Amino acid sequence: MCDRTAQKVSTRVQKATLFCPSCGHASPIDGDWVIERTGGEEVYSCPDCAEQLTTRPLRVPLCC
Ligand SMILES: [Zn+2]
Repeated sequence: MCDRTAQKVSTRVQKATLFCPSCGHASPIDGDWVIERTGGEEVYSCPDCAEQLTTRPLRVPLCC
């Protein structure tokens, strides 16, 4: 029998995971977070405790 260890190659490009500092909820950036788009920004909120995690600007066409 061939006894080889099946070692899975970890995904190199790992999706960023967000953690809620308030309740510890963890989910990938495109997970079950409540995303609210307001004023050119995306606001990420926790679906469990509604803690606001982070905001990031929407992709806007940059003109240089
Ligand atoms: Zn939370």
